[in-house]
Amino acid sequence: MPDSDVEGRKGWPLHVRIFAGLILGTVLGLLGKAALGESARLAWFAGNVANPLGQVFLRLVFMAVVPLVVAALALGVAEIGEIGRVGRVGVRTLVLTLVSSSIAVLIGVGAVNFFKPGAGLPAEVRERLMASVQSQTVKTSLENAAKKKTLAQSLVGIIPKNPLADAVDAFEGGLIPLMFFSLMVGLSMSLVGPEKAAPLKALLESLLAVMLRIIEMAMSLAPLGVAGLMFSVSATAGAGALKMLAGYFLLVVAALALHLTVVYSAAVYFIARRDPRDFFRSIVEVMMTAFATSSSNVTLPLSLKAAQENLKLPRDISNFVLTIGATANQNGTALYEGITVLFLAQFFGVDLTIGQQFAVVVMSVLAGVGTAGVPGGSLPLIAVVLQSVGVPGEGIGIILGVDRLLDMSRTVLNVTGDLAIAACVSAMEERAA
Ligand code: ASP
Repeated sequence: MPDSDVEGRKGWPLHVRIFAGLILGTVLGLLGKAALGESARLAWFAGNVANPLGQVFLRLVFMAVVPLVVAALALGVAEIGEIGRVGRVGVRTLVLTLVSSSIAVLIGVGAVNFFKPGAGLPAEVRERLMASVQSQTVKTSLENAAKKKTLAQSLVGIIPKNPLADAVDAFEGGLIPLMFFSLMVGLSMSLVGPEKAAPLKALLESLLAVMLRIIEMAMSLAPLGVAGLMFSVSATAGAGALKMLAGYFLLVVAALALHLTVVYSAAVYFIARRDPRDFFRSIVEVMMTAFATSSSNVTLPLSLKAAQENLKLPRDISNFVLTIGATANQNGTALYEGITVLFLAQFFGVDLTIGQQFAVVVMSVLAGVGTAGVPGGSLPLIAVVLQSVGVPGEGIGIILGVDRLLDMSRTVLNVTGDLAIAACVSAMEERAA
């Protein structure tokens, strides 16, 4: 979602207003709890005033999510598919993208399972919290999740019989089949060739732009929505919820740092055969721009320049990899999605089976491919992944207040990952030549 009012309009930038919403909602919620305790009036206010404020904002996001997922994923895959036509470079980029995104998600999922930053609210507090936010969709997806399926049934179920029905059920567990459908559409677009695919590509691009615009409008209500949701949470769960939020924040930053320093350094050292310190030194400006703008797309021109001038990568390869990577290779985002979904599941006390955690991993890797390289681009996807495994989508209201800093940090990884892959692919091509 473009943070369009960062510049231009007067007043506080959106992310500052969202943060202010977080503080205001939390402080009022805590004060209310301190003054009134377990009062029926406070519960009434949380349920009938504060929470609906959050609902309005969330529903505006939700309504745009299904078309957004289809368009973004199909376009992302079509672009990777197009480069697949140029053979080896495309295949190598694709493989490295999938491998590094999967490692990123596994680091995130491993860390959140190990440290459990969201666990520990007393069961009765959790029940009240769930009752205050739980919607019918969550109940249905929990019921769906409880229906036992064999492994073969689950695997075959990834392929949709009727993608329209899965689109309707996207929030209740139909997201993976819908993603599969979008993937096939993207792949086939690259197979039928640019001429035949052009009208559909234009349509999907326009659909994506329009959906992002709707979400941008919804985001202007985010400060109020976040204030409302944080009020309900803190009035119900008290200060314990804030401690958990802080733990979650630190865990995301630590896991991102681990992926950046260990995985990227190893790739640069072993595959690109370069000194990681030189590599990072050459791209420090790009990393800083990614941090400041929270947008892979905005940082792209600078990455292209650094790849050619500082890293001295061949122009054709770096152009390919970096342009595609700005939208399709988002390791930081994938890692963050994995942690966020599982953190919120812990927070709301939703026990995810191994199978469901695996589904979160797959969805996070694909979400990395389908996320727009703009500030907050991953939030709509998080909302739908949450709902599809039975965690209330209201959860994004809880993390939104601290999202901007995490967005800045994950964008650094997204952009650095593109440059690392460009360096690796260039070195592999050189060796093959
Ligand atoms: N801001 C990220 C990027 O542009 C996307 C996201 O994770 O929200 O790379």
